[in-house]
Amino acid sequence: AKDNGRDTYHFFASSMNVDALARMELHGSLRKAVKNNEFVLHYQPQIDIASGTVVGMEALVRWRRPDQGLLAPGRFIALAEESGLIVPIGEWVLNEACRQAVAWQQAGMAALPVAVNLSAQQFKRGDILDTVRSALRQSGLHPALLELELTESLLLNDTAAVMETLHELKRIGVQLSIDDFGTGYSSLAYLKRLDVDKLKIDQSFVRDVPGAAEGAAIVKAIVQLGHALQLTVIAEGVETQAQLDFLHAQGCDQAQGYLVSRPVPADEFAVLAAELM
Ligand code: C2E
Ligand code: CA
Ligand code: CA
Ligand code: CA
Repeated sequence: AKDNGRDTYHFFASSMNVDALARMELHGSLRKAVKNNEFVLHYQPQIDIASGTVVGMEALVRWRRPDQGLLAPGRFIALAEESGLIVPIGEWVLNEACRQAVAWQQAGMAALPVAVNLSAQQFKRGDILDTVRSALRQSGLHPALLELELTESLLLNDTAAVMETLHELKRIGVQLSIDDFGTGYSSLAYLKRLDVDKLKIDQSFVRDVPGAAEGAAIVKAIVQLGHALQLTVIAEGVETQAQLDFLHAQGCDQAQGYLVSRPVPADEFAVLAAELM
C-alpha cells in the first residue's frame, strides 16, 4: 500500500511537471507570437433588432500558431493575462481594429463602430490611455467609432486610478460598454459614477430564453435597467430565432450571435456587412 501511494505521488508529480512544462512552452511561443505578429482579428456583426441592419461589430483575437492552425482566445488569453503579454497583444488588437475600421471606410463601407475587449491588466500593467490615444492618432479613426468593452471585475477594482482613466477615455470620446453584464459581483454602483454607453447581456442569460422563467426575468430586468439609464442594450450569444423574437418583444436594442454570423475574417465581414446594410 505504501509503495502504491508513492507511485501515485510520483505519477502526480511528474504530470504536474508536464503541465508546468507545457505552460512554459506556451508562454515562450506566445512571447514569440507577439514578436512575430501571429495574431489575427475576426469580426462579429452586431445588428439592430428592429430593422435587422448591421450597426457595429466586435473584434475578437485569434492566434495563428505555426503548424497549429487558428487558436481561440480561450486557449491563450488567461496565460497572456497572467504573464502580462496581454499588454502588447491588447495594444496590437487596438491598433489593428482601428486600422481595419478606417480601411473599410476608405473602401466605401458605411462607418460602423468597432468594439475591442480590454483586460484589467491593460489598466494595471500598461498605459491604456496612451495606447488608445496612439491607436486613434495613427489610424485616424474617429473616437466615437471605437467602443471599449470592460468587464465588471475591472470596474469592481473601482480604484481612483481606474475610474480616472475611464473618465479620461470618455473625454477622448470613445464609447464604453459593460461586457458579460450580470455575471460579475457588481453592486451596480459604478453605473452611477461612470458614463457607460452600452450593456452587453451575457450569453448565459440569453441561452435560457424564451424557455426558462429565470433567464427571461433576468434579460427583461437588464433591458429595463439599461433603458432607465438611457443605455443601449445588446444581447450576446443569440443563436435562435426564438431568442431573437423574445429579445425583440422585450425591447432589447441589438443582438450579436451565431444566428446572424460567427466571427469572421475581415474580408468576409465586408461582404456580410454589405448584405446586412
Ligand atoms: P467575449 O468578449 O464575451 O466574446 C464573445 C464570445 O462568444 C466570442 O468567443 C464569440 O465567438 C462567442 N460567441 C459569439 N456568438 C456566439 C453564439 O451565438 N453562441 C456561442 N456559444 N458563442 C458565441 P471567442 O472569440 O472565443 O472569445 C472568447 C473570449 O476571449 C471573449 O469573450 C473575450 O473575453 C476574450 N477575448 C477575445 N478577444 C480578446 C481581445 O482582443 N482581448 C481580450 N482581453 N480578450 C479577448
Ligand atoms: Ca466582449
Ligand atoms: Ca461577452
Ligand atoms: Ca452615455
